[in-house]
Amino acid sequence: MIYARKILKACGLFADTDVKTICRAAVISRKSGDQRAKKLMRVSEEQALREEFERLKEELIVPPCVAACPAGVDAPRYVRALKAGRFDEAVAVIREKIPFPFVCADACFAPCEDACAYKQFGDSIAIRALKRAAVDRGKDTWKSNKKMAEPTGKSVAIIGAGPAGLTAAYYLVTLGHRVTVYDGFESPGGTMRYGIPNFRLPKDRLEKDIQVILELGVDFKAKTVIGKDLPFRALKEQSHAVFIACGAVGSIRVPVEGAEKENVLWGWDFLKDVSLGKRFDFQGDVLVIGGGNVALDAARTARRLGADTVTIV
Ligand SMILES: Cc1cc2nc3c(=O)[nH]c(=O)nc-3n(C[C@H](O)[C@H](O)[C@H](O)COP(=O)(O)OP(=O)(O)OC[C@H]3O[C@@H](n4cnc5c(N)ncnc54)[C@H](O)[C@@H]3O)c2cc1C
Ligand code: SF4
Repeated sequence: MIYARKILKACGLFADTDVKTICRAAVISRKSGDQRAKKLMRVSEEQALREEFERLKEELIVPPCVAACPAGVDAPRYVRALKAGRFDEAVAVIREKIPFPFVCADACFAPCEDACAYKQFGDSIAIRALKRAAVDRGKDTWKSNKKMAEPTGKSVAIIGAGPAGLTAAYYLVTLGHRVTVYDGFESPGGTMRYGIPNFRLPKDRLEKDIQVILELGVDFKAKTVIGKDLPFRALKEQSHAVFIACGAVGSIRVPVEGAEKENVLWGWDFLKDVSLGKRFDFQGDVLVIGGGNVALDAARTARRLGADTVTIV
């Protein structure tokens, strides 16, 4: 320590400081490419400081996968917990950032894997598949550590029960607010329920995530279209705040000749109808126009519903 302080003083950083601060300086210096980092690193690698340095290194340097995850899920931490067989802990780590671990385990595009540092040695780590292992095998011990704030007496109305609306509901209710979510559909979930096909996101798994949110005390008002069944003005008057999370449901129609014919279906509408149990009996060839999520889900669904061939253009 005396040696460490001497060097720090020579670096003009800290004259009299503790182990934690020395390590913090070392990590920050390294991260910012500071020339003093080398010296500080040497200091930090002294036996007495090593442990603290390692811990802080993890805390202060954001790994690329965490930076790439839109929710900032700490993938390295839950992968480590899984490696050690601590499934419950892995679930708790995931839940620190997202209230939809089951959904993300099945349907997230996993930008974390694109950014994975392991790619330089070959393949990236299968972060999303590992999330599935965590949620399938982990128990709900995280619930006993979940902190709910005291009631604030404030109420929030949320329009739309898709992932945006329900995530907002989850955090707002945790902060002690009274939350009511309104949706035109009969069940909550938005596109997760009515757009993404069951073979890609099984509804029983979606239900598990939604149930947790509702159990926290979020009130769900089904079949209530704001602006039709209930005026927006009424909602504003009843609540302290309104969060609009109405997504972009519905198909964009292209004005081309023949588009309104009976055998022309529209992506989102088709997938929604399938989710709602409408029967389709495809025969012959199906042509899908478009190449995004909706097109691919529509193509795979059409094939499952009996199409002989499906061509995507
Ligand atoms: C077919 C398909 C596949 C997809 N696959 C993936 C995937 O694999 N991974 C991924 O990450 N993303 C995927 N997406 C995109 C993803 O589903 C959306 O980004 C996400 O659902 C947007 O969430 P949201 O909450 O904003 O809106 P939505 O999920 O669209 O929910 C909006 C909700 O608001 C309700 N609403 C709208 N207006 C009103 C009103 N006036 N009153 C009451 N309620 C109202 C609607 O009924 C709906 O339930 C896919 C999208 C589609 C269409
Ligand atoms: S799978 Fe999705 S939610 Fe999970 S860590 Fe990767 S980007 Fe984040």
